[in-house]
Amino acid sequence: MKVLLELNKKKYSDLSRDLQQKINTTTLHTIIIKKESPEDIKFEIFERLNTGSVRLNEDEIRNVVYRGNYLKLLSELEEDETFHKLVSKDNYKKRMVYRGMILRFFALAEKTYLNYKPSIKQFCNKDLRDNRNMPAEKRKEYSQRFKKCVELVNSVFGEYAFKRFVFGNEENRNGKWNNNLNMSLFDIQMCGFVRYEKHQIIPKADIIRESLLHLMTQNAKFIDSIEIGTSDKSALQTRFKIWFDTLEKIVGEPSSEIRIFPYSIKQHLYLIDKSCKICGQQISNIDDAEVDHIIPYSKGGETIMSNAQITHRFCNRQKSNQTAVMEIVFDNDDVIDIFASYFGETIKAKFNTKNHIIQYNGKIYETPSAAGTKAKIHMGAHEDISTNGWTFWKYTDKNDGKDKFIDELRKK
Ligand SMILES: [Zn+2]
Repeated sequence: MKVLLELNKKKYSDLSRDLQQKINTTTLHTIIIKKESPEDIKFEIFERLNTGSVRLNEDEIRNVVYRGNYLKLLSELEEDETFHKLVSKDNYKKRMVYRGMILRFFALAEKTYLNYKPSIKQFCNKDLRDNRNMPAEKRKEYSQRFKKCVELVNSVFGEYAFKRFVFGNEENRNGKWNNNLNMSLFDIQMCGFVRYEKHQIIPKADIIRESLLHLMTQNAKFIDSIEIGTSDKSALQTRFKIWFDTLEKIVGEPSSEIRIFPYSIKQHLYLIDKSCKICGQQISNIDDAEVDHIIPYSKGGETIMSNAQITHRFCNRQKSNQTAVMEIVFDNDDVIDIFASYFGETIKAKFNTKNHIIQYNGKIYETPSAAGTKAKIHMGAHEDISTNGWTFWKYTDKNDGKDKFIDELRKK
């Protein structure tokens, strides 16, 4: 005992009368968990009882509750050297978190993301329970599946496996790698390779890596799915679906049809000139360089060197936000409502097509670009980054139904 030290090593008969009396009159609570109780409830009760001293984590509890062949396999695979290399930085090993990760992979790979039901803990426990005494054949299959995927993740993502790349911001346009393991990325990187063989993945390793970097920085739906409520059914299924579709496309199509530029082109451009072609500043990390189509892919621009330029991922995202979310609604003959998006925030203003005056936030501005600059100051944005945003305001011409920029309207 750590308290009442004077009582250590004493027998009942050595104790004082008072203490003996206390023991005699104390009620000792016992909780019996029946064999036939539902498994998730057993796990839950065990978890709750286990709050007195050092609290065991989820994986340590599993180790007690679900002893069997499957757990033995997890503890063996936990020693896999390549896997160690990929996760060791987080020093998870001491508390069996590694085997929890491996279990998570097996559960998602076996039952598939389509059948996922939260919580992730119960979903994993179910796979453990269903296969508690796994036959040798199946153990071999599981083991090979794990090792293949770990090898491929190592070949494709290397030291940045299971890590997130975060793009820059207005103050510092350079993005960077996040050091923590991201379990959502672990899920898709590992499970993504289950269906493929080495010879399908290795020749396209660069494009696969670039494509994930692109998703992590440019695809809002994907970003949400690895960032917000990541164990929810919809978030989990969204990230799996997006990543599986991306992989399918890369593996299934010839490289020339793919929208993402190969790494060799990026490296070439980066070595010649490290400056961002949108903001003009230096790009400090090649992973932060996004190769952009000069003539957009959607307008028939090819994925070739002569149509390529490098930008910060942040700058490229800002650019695509500007062009994607704009919308204009006609009001009457002279005044139109214009909508534009600046960093996701929608601004509504009036534009008079006759005198080219913009009315925004109760004030009048003479030219579209001046209005844009002012509008941004109203929103608390930094003035010196204001040249890009609002000059792209578009409207739909009633006469020919085409999208035009307001600057063109002024020239008429
Ligand atoms: Zn830039």
